[in-house]
Formats: sequence, structure tokens, C-alpha cells
Amino acid sequence: QNYCKPTGQIHDACCDYETVESVNEDLFGRLHELVAEPYFRYHKVDLAKECPFWEEDGSCMNRACGVETTDEDHIPEAWRSSTLGKLNRTSARTSSPAGCKEISDSDFCVLEDELDSEGVYVDLLLNPERFTGYAGPSSSRVWQSIYLENCFSPVPYIDPSRPSWEGGSGYADVSAFTGGGAGGLGGLRMGGWGEGEKRLMGSLAGPKDPTEEVCLEKRVFYRVISGLHASISVHICDDYLDQSTGLWSPNLDCFITRIGQHPERLENMYFTYVLLLRALSRAGPQLVQTLEATHAARNEVEGLRGLVSVAGGCPSTFDESTMFSGGKEAQDVRVEQLLKDEFKAHFRNVSRIMDCVGCDKCRLWGKMQITGLGTALKLLFSSDSEDGEEVVLSRSEVVAFVNTLHRLSESLAAVDRFRTLWAHRNDAK
Ligand code: FAD
Repeated sequence: QNYCKPTGQIHDACCDYETVESVNEDLFGRLHELVAEPYFRYHKVDLAKECPFWEEDGSCMNRACGVETTDEDHIPEAWRSSTLGKLNRTSARTSSPAGCKEISDSDFCVLEDELDSEGVYVDLLLNPERFTGYAGPSSSRVWQSIYLENCFSPVPYIDPSRPSWEGGSGYADVSAFTGGGAGGLGGLRMGGWGEGEKRLMGSLAGPKDPTEEVCLEKRVFYRVISGLHASISVHICDDYLDQSTGLWSPNLDCFITRIGQHPERLENMYFTYVLLLRALSRAGPQLVQTLEATHAARNEVEGLRGLVSVAGGCPSTFDESTMFSGGKEAQDVRVEQLLKDEFKAHFRNVSRIMDCVGCDKCRLWGKMQITGLGTALKLLFSSDSEDGEEVVLSRSEVVAFVNTLHRLSESLAAVDRFRTLWAHRNDAK
């Protein structure tokens, strides 16, 4: 049995595995070089934020969970908090007193403010995403809570007088999820689900494949999370610590158990990559413009331009216009808007759950990648912002986006290496 050589069309995407793999062959080397450049390797992150949902007691004490931080003196001056602070006085975007960026309607993530005094600078190259040993109840709880965020109401339903989980059709009450007006910050509602939501969640928590029989938007939400989870697992298995020898190397059994035996996880990982690729080709000029406006070096701007042209030259990978576009009637438009608001509110909650990860290294990459995915969603779905608000990107968002693309790209390359290891093992039998 070949565990990891999928072929044919990727569900919910416009392309097949073979195309995506050939694009990745062109892209991976360029991305790998680009993320080693100063613009992309220094990142500011707050690793000390408290988990807003439960008391986190699962702090990972393994050495591999630690993060090596970088002194602000090593950061190019243009990106230091002190310099950004000066610029910020004239900037249109203001900072909230709590140190969190004022959330904009277009944001899919709760973004951290680069001026936040609590944050630390990290050189991503010195802190690779790899096996850390973080596992058990703490990590399971985080993953479980993240998957529960997929349980938003699949609108529209059929009968307004009956609740949705009984096959009724009332519109989803977005305020129940957002803790206020649509588009507001997701309310902290762990343990605060209404009866109906609990039942909806209960039905999804069963063995049924969550990607079946639900609307496209909800499937996409699930696939993106599952694809990220799969990519993290691939990195764990690809850079695995053999605790008996102290050596780091790929672990084929780890890969087979976590990914190879679950083709749907592999497919979701390809899907997540495809979505990021589409954001890169669609919003290329905007990404390049952000680099130019935030003191990137010329070779960094050219490197990004090169990536954009590779992504733009390949066949269409994902059609974002099929999402949040149920119809032209006023009622359809309203329903689609509600669905989009819910999607955003739930994705923002996933970004907050990242502060519950009990291993600093995992938290660093978890936060970074959720920000990267949130940036991709913002680029795909907010460029025609409903209220005419201009979509503005920060340096951290672009850094997160490019590094997340690199994580997924590297995972695809690692899958290819695992295929070879698998073939060698079979030949040796
Ligand atoms: P888990 O990976 O914890 O999965 C839990 C359950 O989710 C599984 O039993 C399965 O039912 C389901 N599941 C698994 N994969 C998928 C998928 N792709 N799609 C859908 N469902 C799935 N550990 C490290 O060593 N290094 C890291 O960098 C790292 N980063 C992490 C980042 C985050 C945000 C989190 C929450 C955890 C991280 N971990 C990391 C821990 C790691 O992800 C696992 O939780 C841990 O290795 C235990 O793995 P497990 O086999 O018990 O299953």
C-alpha cells in the first residue's frame, strides 16, 4: 500500500495533486531562501499572554519547548518598537490601550500590536518548528477546542420557526457568537454554548467526516485547520528526536501513523497550501507594496516578486468567488454576510486559543501560522471590504503569511522524502 502518493483532483480546489507538486518544486527553493532574509526571520510575538479560556497548567518543561529570543539591538532599526512607535503617531491605525491592535473588520485574527511592550523578538531560523515532546491532555485540549470552533451554523436553513439543528432555517444569530454586533470580537464563550449549539457540536463530534454534507465555507474552515494540524505533524515527524540516541532525523513510523494512514489529512494539507498559493497570486502586488513601505531590502522585494510570478503563472488553484456568494437577492446577501461574520469570529477565536498552547516553541509557530492563514483569508475575502474600508497589511502579517506558506511548502517537500523512505523500506523487505 502506498500511503502517501495521492493523485487526481483535490476536493474544493481547482487543481490536482500533480499540479500542486510541480508548482511546489518551483516555489520551495525560492521560499526557503527568502525566509532566511532579515525581513522574514525576525518576528515579534507575545508568548506570555494568558489563556483566555481556561487555566493553563500544562507548561512544557522540555528543553525543546523553549524559545531562544533575540535582543532588540539585533533587530534592524526600522522594525524596532521604538522606531515604529514614532511612525505610529502619524499612522491611521491606532493601538488599543490593552496593547492589542484595534481589530479591523477585515481581520480574521486577533493581531498583536508590534508596539506591545510585552512581546519578544524571535529569530525564526534559530527556533525551528520540530518535535518538542509537547503532548498529552494539554495539547489534546487545545486541538479539541480548535476543532469545536468549526461548529458554526451552516446557514441558510429551511424553516425559520424551527432551530437549525432540527433542520429548521432561522438565520444564525451571529451576536451569540460574537458577543455583540456582527464582526465584533468573538465573545469568550468556552463552556457557554447554548443548548442548540451543544447539540450541533455533539452531532459533529461523532465519527462522521466533518467535511461531508456541510456548506463549502464550513468545509473550508475545517480543511484549513486540519491541513495546518497535518503540516505541524509532518514537521514533528520530519525533524524528530530519537530520545534514546539524542539524534534528530525523520521518523517514518511517526509519519505513517499521523498522516500516511489518514489520506484526508494529507488532502487537507494540500488544500491549505493551495489556498495560500491563491492568496499569493491574487494579492501579490499588495504584498510587494507592503514590503516596499516597511523598509525591506531590494533583494527581499525582488525575492517576493519572484514568488508572486511563479504563483501567478500556474493554473488557478482555488476559486474564492464561490465562497460567501449564495445569491443576488437581498436576503441571500444578508445570509452570506452573516456566514462571513461567523467565519471570521470563529477564526479569531482560534487565534486566541493559541495563547493556551503550553509549549513556547509550539505557541510561537501556532500563533505565527494562524496569523499567516488569517492574512491569506483577509487577502482573499476582504479586498472588496463591504464598508469600503481599505485593507491594510502590517509587516508582521506579511512575515507570518510568507513563513506559513514556507511551512506548508516544506511539508509537501517532506512528504516526498517520506515516500522515498517508504519505498526503500519496502524494497528492503
Ligand atoms: P494530536 O496531533 O494531538 O491530535 C489529536 C487528535 O486530533 C487525534 O487523536 C486525531 O483524532 C485528531 N487529528 C490529528 N491530526 C488531525 C488532522 N490533521 N486533521 C484532523 N484531525 C486530526 N508538538 C511538537 O512536538 N512540535 C510542535 O511544534 C508542536 N506544535 C503544536 C502546535 C499547536 C497549536 C498544538 C495545539 C500542538 C502542537 N504540538 C507540537 C503538539 C502536537 O500537535 C500533538 O498534539 C502531540 O504530538 C500529540 O500528538 P497525538 O498523536 O496525541 O495527536
